[in-house]
Amino acid sequence: MSSDHLMRNYARQDVAFEYGAGCWLYDTSGQRYLDAIGGLAVNVLGHAHAAVTQAITGQAARLIHTSNIYRIPAQEQLAARLTALTGLENAFFCNSGAEANEAAIKLARLYGHRRNIATPQIIVMDGAFHGRTMATLTATGTRKAQAGFEPLLSGFVRCPWNDLDALQLIARQRNDVVAIMVEPIQGEGGVRVPAPGYLRALRTLCDEKGWLLICDEIQTGMFRTGTFLASMQDQVQPDIVTLAKGLGNGIPIGTCLAGKQAADLFEPGKHGSTFGGNPLACHTALAVLDVLEAEALGAHAATVGQFLRERLAEQLAGLSMVREIRGQGLMIGIELREPAPDLVSTARAHGLLINVTADKVIRLLPPLILDNDEATQLCDLLVPLIAQLEPARETTG
Ligand code: PLP
Repeated sequence: MSSDHLMRNYARQDVAFEYGAGCWLYDTSGQRYLDAIGGLAVNVLGHAHAAVTQAITGQAARLIHTSNIYRIPAQEQLAARLTALTGLENAFFCNSGAEANEAAIKLARLYGHRRNIATPQIIVMDGAFHGRTMATLTATGTRKAQAGFEPLLSGFVRCPWNDLDALQLIARQRNDVVAIMVEPIQGEGGVRVPAPGYLRALRTLCDEKGWLLICDEIQTGMFRTGTFLASMQDQVQPDIVTLAKGLGNGIPIGTCLAGKQAADLFEPGKHGSTFGGNPLACHTALAVLDVLEAEALGAHAATVGQFLRERLAEQLAGLSMVREIRGQGLMIGIELREPAPDLVSTARAHGLLINVTADKVIRLLPPLILDNDEATQLCDLLVPLIAQLEPARETTG
């Protein structure tokens, strides 16, 4: 087996997994790992969850796909469920986060044209991550991801993250803005949590200006931060919400949910997806929601997340390498002062799967079923590895 015929777009780690159970993964040689990254925030119910397996196998045996030229009852049911959960009205289903954001961008542009704005602009943030398609790559706020793919799209205005003055300045200077697109907590950008009240201030500005507030909750949603959407923690009602990742617990599905002025902008022929919202994906997502709600995994994520952050704060206190521990629920970032290029592989060698984003932020996105015992094991595995990064003078002095 070799990767000779795969494109080189991933710097893959040299490990392959054979099976999983709950928060644990087992590689092809039988070694077990605590999965603190959960397929990059996808496996909210962990691996091989019985209810998910049953939904997939049951539906696969009945009907996988028909296409959106016919009614799909499970899609209608899922739309009703998600709109009720988010206070929005209508849903469009697709297969990934980037596609959900593409739909949101197209809605914002339609909304602008309805208001006779010929070149509608969407405000996007520095450090944001919205996907890898050309529009979402343009909306993404890191040059590294964009370099080499120019020309990027027009129609986006970049704003410094967490900077209301800069935003106000854009609002004063431009009359072609139609929307703000924002992650309530920046994920890929380094688990960056904005100042309290930031999201509410964005909502107020959008209301004043008649702009749409688009919350990309692809990483923060599905109860990861404790509430179904992270924006709910600030009592903010977005106009458009995008979800993907945890929605299908690994079966590809994304959605763009819209309310009020944005809910009915798509007319037949304006947007679509062959696979989007097929019976298999929708039945799976319904099963995922059933378990998340029945087991109150949002409240659980909030409690275990706090336990984990407090324990990390306690055990990492005094280490000069650790700049900050932050996050909400089970979306946690540990920012180091220096990059630690070997940390991911060292952790893996010790049976722990983590991720490092924005060069020096250890990112933890474990399944929401993580229990206190597993959170303790996570700390016990990770803390000594971070302590080992301390410069010699710190540990001997
Ligand atoms: N938006 C956010 C906030 C994300 O974290 C991601 C993926 O990491 C995306 C969009 C893109 O999702 P996908 O990789 O499913 O296209």
